[in-house]
Amino acid sequence: MMNDTTKISKPVLRLFPFGGVGEFGKNMMVYALGDDAIMVDCGMGFPEPGQHGVDIVIPDISALNDLGLKLHAVVLTHGHEDHIGALPLLLPALNVPVYGTEMTLGLLARKMSEVQGFKPDFKGLPEQERIEIGPFGIEAIPVTHSIMDAVSIAIHTPLGIVIHTGDFKFDPAPIDGRATALHRFAALGDQGVLLLVSDSTNATRTGSGPTERSVGPALKQAISGCAGKVVVTTFSSNMFRIQQIVDAAVASGRKVALAGRSLERNTEVARKLGRLHVTSEQFVSIKQAAEMSDAEVLVIATGSQGESRAALVRIALGKFPGLRLRDGDLVIFSSSMIPGNERAIAGLFSHIYRRGARVLHAGQAPLHVSGHAQAHELKTMMQLVRPRYMYPVHGEYRNLIEHKYLAMATGIPEGHVIIAENGQSVRVAADGIRAGDPFHAGAVFVDGDQRDEIDGMVLRDRRILAEDGIVTAVVAINRQEGRLIGSPELATRGVLHQEVSEDVLGRAAEALRRHLDHMGQELLADDDAAKEEVRVWLRRWFKRQHGRRPMVLPTVFEI
Ligand SMILES: [Zn+2]
Repeated sequence: MMNDTTKISKPVLRLFPFGGVGEFGKNMMVYALGDDAIMVDCGMGFPEPGQHGVDIVIPDISALNDLGLKLHAVVLTHGHEDHIGALPLLLPALNVPVYGTEMTLGLLARKMSEVQGFKPDFKGLPEQERIEIGPFGIEAIPVTHSIMDAVSIAIHTPLGIVIHTGDFKFDPAPIDGRATALHRFAALGDQGVLLLVSDSTNATRTGSGPTERSVGPALKQAISGCAGKVVVTTFSSNMFRIQQIVDAAVASGRKVALAGRSLERNTEVARKLGRLHVTSEQFVSIKQAAEMSDAEVLVIATGSQGESRAALVRIALGKFPGLRLRDGDLVIFSSSMIPGNERAIAGLFSHIYRRGARVLHAGQAPLHVSGHAQAHELKTMMQLVRPRYMYPVHGEYRNLIEHKYLAMATGIPEGHVIIAENGQSVRVAADGIRAGDPFHAGAVFVDGDQRDEIDGMVLRDRRILAEDGIVTAVVAINRQEGRLIGSPELATRGVLHQEVSEDVLGRAAEALRRHLDHMGQELLADDDAAKEEVRVWLRRWFKRQHGRRPMVLPTVFEI
């Protein structure tokens, strides 16, 4: 029979990059043997400038069905949002087990607890032990990164071993002593690795990155030199950094207060797992901190990227309850500037200086290190693993190509390095690697406000648009004088009946104008802050007046 020959045909491994290849963020790779598939990571991304009203972006996975794949599990490399952030939205529909290490699942559990009516099936991912998922043998290999418990995934297939690095670096002196398992990568290299799928984030940076540990002394020096309050902002999932900040605070006789929900949650997860070496006496609440003298207080705050809803922006604008910056205070940015956020961060600096405080950032002192392997480390990985084929992922096109040159420098022939961005499948068989069929790998834009109202696969922005409609607001501001020009212009679709619409919008615009006039020059001169104010105010107004929460797309332009 004809069909039998297809069944005994040679195995083919297909890779489907749904996200994170040709861009930063929303990392997701699906590996398929026949129709049996696993997903490695399920991340979210952030909107690009101009995508108003969008909070997060997640991969469009509608092609999973079209491709006829049977998904067995999601396997996670680590707990960063760009690797797990889409799960609260996508997992209820996928409804498969999720494999991850302790900290990764701890962080994910907090996120999934906000999804009502769904109980995720979490399974531990033991390090350096092989487990079977469908036709795949899966093995987690410890790596260092800017988050605890990161792993690379070795995928054992009938065609050979695939190593999916996830995000990694070679930190020679990790804070928790959990080093990258060089010996295991080398041992797999001895066995023979078919394909290396590797992080390209820092392929454009030469040399090796410094150890996380190098940040500690710079933090201590900066903090001990300040007579006032110290606020430190950093990425809220980096517990190695939090540990070092707490240590520096304790060394200079300060108590630590946390400002920002994600920070409180992540710290709580790490403390519960016994992964943060701190005591309860070292912490105070923001309220308690307000009663103490400035020199006894250190606040760790979210919002290092100038995110308009995070704690630091509110602190800098004098709008954070119980916490006022003043002369002599210091705000330390123990963080990098993610490209695209420069303007928001520069605006944030100015707000801090207006309160009388000073800023110290990683451009002035070694207050931050990257969690990603640089050129030398990437080459070391390739030399350990000695893959037959190489597939650069996690990065924009320029990063992928630089990573390809690094691969060629280690002796991998150019024809053995595949460049395949999101939506371009890759096919590996006994006769080699090549581009497979293209598939649909788009993006879904989500307004992250109402995460607790997720209803299966119904994505929020579609639902809000369908049920509550949309309001656009155009606000013109005289930047020099920090005042509104004319009245805000409002328009709606699907919110109000046509007959009443003009009347209602007139009243809303007038009330919004009065509200903004009271906000003062500083807020109005900051278009991100003004935009957020317009968005929040209009949502509240429509909720109060009409019982609806429409999507609000504010546009603020300055003259
Ligand atoms: Zn990461």
